[in-house]
Amino acid sequence: MASYVHERSRFNLEDNEMPTQWYNVQADLAHPIAPYLGPDGSLADAEALAAIFPEPLIEQEISTQRWFDIPGPVLDVLHTYRPGPLNRARMFEKALGLPDNVHIYYKYEGINASGSHKANTAIPQAYYNKISGITKLATETGAGQWGSALSMAGAQLGIEVEVFMVGVSYDQKPYRRIFMESFGATVHRSPTTLTEAGRAMLEKDPDTLGSLGLAISEAVEVAAASPDTNYALGSVLNHVCLHQTIIGQEAIKQMELAGEEPDVVIACVGGGSNFAGLAFPYYLRRKEGKTGARLLAVEPKACPSLTHGSFEYDFGDEAKLTPQMMMYTLGHDFVPPGIHAGGLRYHGDSPLISQLVHENEIEATAVYQKDVFAAALEFARAEALLPAPESSHAIAAAIAEAKAAAEAGEPRTILFGLSGHGFLDLAAYENYINGKLQDYDFATGAVVG
Ligand SMILES: *Cc1c(COP(=O)(O)O)cnc(C)c1O
Repeated sequence: MASYVHERSRFNLEDNEMPTQWYNVQADLAHPIAPYLGPDGSLADAEALAAIFPEPLIEQEISTQRWFDIPGPVLDVLHTYRPGPLNRARMFEKALGLPDNVHIYYKYEGINASGSHKANTAIPQAYYNKISGITKLATETGAGQWGSALSMAGAQLGIEVEVFMVGVSYDQKPYRRIFMESFGATVHRSPTTLTEAGRAMLEKDPDTLGSLGLAISEAVEVAAASPDTNYALGSVLNHVCLHQTIIGQEAIKQMELAGEEPDVVIACVGGGSNFAGLAFPYYLRRKEGKTGARLLAVEPKACPSLTHGSFEYDFGDEAKLTPQMMMYTLGHDFVPPGIHAGGLRYHGDSPLISQLVHENEIEATAVYQKDVFAAALEFARAEALLPAPESSHAIAAAIAEAKAAAEAGEPRTILFGLSGHGFLDLAAYENYINGKLQDYDFATGAVVG
């Protein structure tokens, strides 16, 4: 043992080193994002948003102020699980057979009970609604992580939660429903007969698997109909991206502890919030001339809005109840195939990320789900951490980056966001292990294997 040299793998922060402000990328865009439009195409004003969101969140949505102080009561709840870990994946590097000059780091967001980064915005959203006199939040959930996070935050901050869960996830993930109910939430399989949007869809297609866009329509309808009920969205919107920026701020400090600067920062993209959370603080750092890090967004080949969508105005939901946003979109009526990364089955993308992709500040790539699960298991077996299928898109891209660097004989430091754990995604892992997963390619419309 005399020759053993301890090499550090974990770069953790003290409690009091957690960020106390959120970073608003809107302060640093070369061109401001296009304004939201109402259903009739006219400018959507703050008043229209006020029917479903509290005033402080609307301010964050449209502001170009660079920093927002995180309220004390929000910090108190965030402190139950933050600061979060940043690890160097030494065992994974070894398993991949990487040379000494190719390093992989990951920032892990699966440490709270709901298991993903979504708690980071669920908590401030519950807080701002609560102090604005709202008693109930209606929301949708795709894979179940957002509903879980909001249920948890609702329990912690004392606000009721009603969840419309996308049908395919409701069927595939009973434990997610039970999780939400354990924290006191009411959960419906979407589409329901409780809303006009739901009834219209069921009439059109009684066997529908549901979609995130449709579940959003249902929740927005419920929120708009009642003055003490608001709507909460777990991704896409600017205030959600804002709340997630504690991830990247922590990562920057932790990479400094590790004594390295990433060459590339990678995260998966559904609506874009975990990517924004990790990447936007690095975007600022690049503006400040402190890093040259590339920012790489990863999406599924079956639902590739950034790499195959159009950059145009579209609705956030199936029934066209939300404002129209300028974003990369596959169309609000696109129902993605039932791939096993439910959190990435969304037709659109964050307007902020869309804008930055459009301006070539952010790169995007798409991967097949079987490659994603292969990457997930390779990572799991090396690092003893079971990643969410969504997060594993980032792992697949990190492997590709590492191998490309190794082949080129170049040094590379890779940082990826591991947005959540996969403990409640075991059915998907089972399907993969038993060879039951299919790969779809949106671009060609084909099942490719
Ligand atoms: C919801 C979710 C995603 C996708 O949402 P984004 O807003 O794009 O981050 C990714 N990973 C996990 C674990 C999720 O729960």
